[in-house]
Parts: sequence; structure tokens; C-alpha cells
Amino acid sequence: MLVSDNLGVNEKGNLTIGGMDTVELANDFGTPLYVMDEEKIVESCRKFKSSMDKFYNGNGMVCYASKAFCCKEMCRIMAKEGMGLDVVSEGELFTAISAGFPTDKICFHGNNKTDSELTLALSYGVGRIVVDNLEELKRLSELAGKLHKKSNIMLRIKPGIDAHTHSFIMTGQIDSKFGFALETGEAFEAVKLSCESENVTLKGLHCHIGSQIFELEPFCAAAEVMLKFIAKIKNELGFEIDDLDLGGGFGIKYVEDNKPLPYEVYMEKVSERVKSCCDELKVKMPYIIIEPGRSIAAPAGITLYKIGSVKEIPGVRNYVSVDGGMCDNPRYILYQSEYDFEIANKASKAKDYKCTVAGKCCESGDLLGKDIMLQNPQAGDTLAVLATGAYNYSMASNYNRISRPPVVMISGGKARVIVKRESLEDLIKNDV
Ligand SMILES: *Cc1c(COP(=O)(O)O)cnc(C)c1O
Repeated sequence: MLVSDNLGVNEKGNLTIGGMDTVELANDFGTPLYVMDEEKIVESCRKFKSSMDKFYNGNGMVCYASKAFCCKEMCRIMAKEGMGLDVVSEGELFTAISAGFPTDKICFHGNNKTDSELTLALSYGVGRIVVDNLEELKRLSELAGKLHKKSNIMLRIKPGIDAHTHSFIMTGQIDSKFGFALETGEAFEAVKLSCESENVTLKGLHCHIGSQIFELEPFCAAAEVMLKFIAKIKNELGFEIDDLDLGGGFGIKYVEDNKPLPYEVYMEKVSERVKSCCDELKVKMPYIIIEPGRSIAAPAGITLYKIGSVKEIPGVRNYVSVDGGMCDNPRYILYQSEYDFEIANKASKAKDYKCTVAGKCCESGDLLGKDIMLQNPQAGDTLAVLATGAYNYSMASNYNRISRPPVVMISGGKARVIVKRESLEDLIKNDV
């Protein structure tokens, strides 16, 4: 079983994505190559949006977290699908602006936004700036004053829920660089200061409890904690919060063991919890924002490489080396992330050869996967790594002065380059 339903095997025994032969794609565009499937991206966006309509009367916004995969064409697709957009830097913001993305539907995150970033956001009328700390609140208010703007803000709250593990824990004190803590009273202080600050309007509260989460309860628990805080603000300050942003983090299937829930289920269960909490706490139903990143981009993408050599070290390990590595996918060296692999030109064959897939960078840790089962890999074969649509291109680097691969978007049986391969000239263009 292949990890994404847009993948298949054709009559030649070659791996396909969106019905297109990956061996032909590798031949036509060269390797390494990122391939993204537009229909899969659109399908995921629509699932999130329709669940917001179905279970929460459409009283909310689905914001794609662009850090998962950001380029102009992706921003255009998100705009066309009526999605909101999260950005975390002026680079991501500038990309969105350059693609003509409607800035009122942008949320600007980050724990240390610079003056230049805040100025860009204010000048372009970014819809919501998510304030992380008191220094930022003060700077933002001053900058907005200078520019004669008034900014809608949300406050990033640490709800005291840590879902980074397979189970989740609720702790008193969460060690995180992001946001205001609830239990110390810091968050409540920030709300008071926001209400008093000139040039900013407190619109909402935000939390994001982690990534690649497969359970429902952490999301529901976070919603509950946040609504209790909203009730406290209403009761003690007489101020009603409009927006509740519950972040992203919905898990995806990288390998067979991963068992993600259908995305619709999150909205269904979270909506139920929000409704019951609002009734109980006597607060109005908030406008809800969710921020899926990985779940929209990852299943839509694969990376294609050429195998250059197979090195057998008897009794030790077999190394299969490809023409990319940590420079285009640093997730293994960062987190020992798991992926599923296929020899694209032997996809119908049995996986009976155990090996470690290595990149070409000068780091022993530059691997894409350890102890992987593959279909008799040989030099010249095309290797596909699956579900690489998120946090691969966006995390790529030029380590070893390796050019970043191009991104090809496929749709309706056609392929188009949406990010060009970096040339050698590109690599030295800022050198003096
Ligand atoms: C990273 C991030 C997301 C997206 O997380 P995914 O796991 O990719 O869904 C959403 N919101 C915020 C604030 C984030 O930092």
C-alpha cells in the first residue's frame, strides 16, 4: 500500500503521482526533483473548508501555514481556494504579496518579528498580527502609530498542553519560546495591556499545540482551556474576544504505521467541544481559525532522485547513494523522520533489499532513511521518497553549494515548473 491515494503503479510498473509516470517526470525535468500534485492540495483544502462549513456553520477560516511549502504558485492556489494564509517572516509575507494574496486573510506569526517585518505587515494591511510578547506589543503599537494604522492583533497563548509526544500531557508550566503563559497571569496581563494599547485592536487569541498529532483530545482540550480564558476575560474585564485560533498540527501518513484521522473529524469534535463550552461558560461562539500546514502540503508531494551507487559493506550495511540528501530534505538529520521509499522504475517489484539511503553531502548523518526495504536498487534507478510535500523544499539549503531542486506542479496530466532549478550562477549571485 502506498502512503497517499494519489500514488499508483502503471502498466510499465512505474510509480505514478496524479496518474503521471514519475520516471518520465524525472527524465523530463532532471533529478533531484520535487513533484507536487495540485489536485491533492486542492482536495485537502476543500476537506478542511467543508468541515468548517458543515460542523461550525462556516463561522471561521482555514489558514494554510505557508512555512510547510511556500512559493508564489502555492499562494495563488490558496487564494483561488479561498484559504487564509499564515506567514512567519517577511520572506513568506513578501512571497504572498508578490502572488497577489489578499492581505486581509493573512495571519502573521513569529516569536521575534523585527521592526522591518512589522512595518511591512502594517503597510500592506495584514489581517491579523499574532503578538508573541510584551515588547512586541509595545513596538507594534508604536510603529502602527507612526504609520497612522490600526492593527488587528491576536495574542499567542500557551495553553499548557504539550502534544509533541504520541500522547499528550497537560502541565502547569510549558517550556516554550512561543507566547504568553496562562498560569503565571502573564497572558491575562497581556490582554489588559492590549485593550489599553493605542493603535491595536485585540481581536483574538491563538494557540498551536504541536505538529504531526494523531489524537483528537489535545485539540479539544486546548479549545476548552482557551474558552475558559475567554470567559475569564469577559467576566473580569467585560471584554469579549471574537476570534479563537486553534493552530495546526494535524498528523499525516508518512509510513504505514501512521494512522491519521480524516481531517473532517477534527473539526467535528472540536466544534462539539466549543459549542458545549460556550453554553456552559456563557460566552459567544468565537470565529474559529485553524492552520493546517503539513496536512495540506505533505501528502501532495514526492521527491525523485537518481541512484548513483550501491555500496555493500558485508555484515554491516548497504548504502544506496542518491543525488540529493539533507540539502533538499533535512528532516532525517533533524528529527530522524521516517519516510516511505519506492524505486520508481521497479514499483511493482517486491521490496526485498535492506539498505540505508544516503545523500551526497559531506556529513555522515546525511541520510534519508535507515534500514529501508527497497526493490533491488541499482545505479541509474530513480528513487522516490513519498509524502515530502511539506518541510522539504521549505527547509532546503545550499549546504555544500548544492543547488536547490526545482518544483514541478502536476495537474490534469500536465506538469509545469513552479520553482526553477537553481543554477550555478544563482549560487554565487550574492558573492562579492
Ligand atoms: C507550524 C505551524 C502551523 C502548521 O503546523 P502543521 O503541523 O504543519 O500543520 C500552524 N500554526 C503555527 C502557529 C505554526 O507555527
